[in-house]
Amino acid sequence: MAEKFDVIIVGAGPAGTACAYTLAKAGVNVLLMERGEYPGSKNVMGGVLYRKTMEDIIPEFYKEAPVERPIVEQRFMMLDKESAINFSYKGMEWAQEPYNNFTVLRAKFDQWFADKAVQQGALLLNETVALQCIVENGKVVGVKTDRPDGDLYADVVVLADGVNSLLAKSLGFHKEFRPDEVALAVMEVLKLDRKIIEDRFNLEGDHGCTIEIFGDSTKGILGTAWLYTNKDSLNIGVGTMLSGLIKNKIKPYELLDYVKNHPMIRPYIQGCEQQEYLAHLIPEGGYRSIPKIVGNGVLVVGDAAQLVNAIHREGSNMAMASGVMAAETILAAKEAGDYSEKMLDGYRINLLNSFVGQDLKKYKDATHHFEKFPQYFEQYIPMMNKAASQMFTVDGSSKWSKQKKIWSDLGSAKDKWKMARDLMNAWRVMK
Ligand code: FAD
Repeated sequence: MAEKFDVIIVGAGPAGTACAYTLAKAGVNVLLMERGEYPGSKNVMGGVLYRKTMEDIIPEFYKEAPVERPIVEQRFMMLDKESAINFSYKGMEWAQEPYNNFTVLRAKFDQWFADKAVQQGALLLNETVALQCIVENGKVVGVKTDRPDGDLYADVVVLADGVNSLLAKSLGFHKEFRPDEVALAVMEVLKLDRKIIEDRFNLEGDHGCTIEIFGDSTKGILGTAWLYTNKDSLNIGVGTMLSGLIKNKIKPYELLDYVKNHPMIRPYIQGCEQQEYLAHLIPEGGYRSIPKIVGNGVLVVGDAAQLVNAIHREGSNMAMASGVMAAETILAAKEAGDYSEKMLDGYRINLLNSFVGQDLKKYKDATHHFEKFPQYFEQYIPMMNKAASQMFTVDGSSKWSKQKKIWSDLGSAKDKWKMARDLMNAWRVMK
């Protein structure tokens, strides 16, 4: 007879492992299934892990987890072709316990986190692909795998299989995502001596910094590039909406090459040696793209549920929070002996009321707005750079005349009204 578990979780990323850890800790018989050779072996992230959500699961995890550097500074670059406006926040409160967030390398971190779930009693099955859900009488009762003795059964199946979940799709929970609902990101891990990193990025000891780069880094397409510090490597990447890449006929690796050779970025990565090249999709459709996430005997968590806040590059924390909320609902369902959609819907309600649902709702129109009106990236960032150059160049002309010139360069009265309207609209979708 095929083996039966209380819960089967497909995917040992942050969402699946958070769910497995919470359930196993409560004594539930849980199987965590991962297609990779080990958890993290196939996973990609820019690299920022948020302390709070992780610490709600494992207090003081950073004392033993393979984190790279606590981030003490967040920098932003508004990039034009040969210039940049930079601003940042650096705070020493982020340099000490309990910290704010950390850079991590997913191959190491996911493996460590999954081990913690195993220590709580979860069974981890690597190199196993879930092919589809087994449905009997309208209820998900297990998963078909690529193993010879392939079918596994459970009271509940949690789909934590990441962006574009094939399993959720085959249940009819969502269609193929549109190119304006997903971003394609490419990144490299670049090896660099830790002392050089610390000097180059003005860091003390283990402290780390992140740089988010807008504007010319994506050639005006909606998206962002990033440069993050690890212990002895840098993560550099660029992610743009798939629709923008298609429309502009740009290949993502060409964009990454462009970023690496940009005069504002090049000095940071000089002398680096490429260690890894990675590409991955990010679900960035936001609140309006959240698919059906609850069915009879099944829940969908993390990227599979499109839970990414692209504006604040938060995904791993939303994935973990959703995994924990799914686990809590399953515990309540187990107690009631009821795994119906109605009972499991508590997960959806809790999720939408939590910071995950609230933040996605806050920015529900933002991505689509900035995609529809590319002038924010294409026109306004270059304009800001030009204005800064004019104002800060000392050339014998008065500051009044400079201001006048900047004002006239903004265009006709009609152009200025349009810009004012754009600013109002940007405020409206971000507020
Ligand atoms: P995943 O991490 O994708 O995990 C899914 C797991 O399921 C994988 O291990 C996969 O191998 C496994 N799997 C898939 N299908 C099957 C199957 N059929 N059978 C068995 N196993 C399967 N978020 C942040 O918080 N900070 C950042 O800085 C950040 N930067 C990012 C940069 C990039 C380039 C990308 C791509 C994403 C970034 N994100 C970031 C988003 C973040 O990585 C995701 O939101 C998060 O990983 C989602 O976790 P998850 O567990 O839902 O999915």
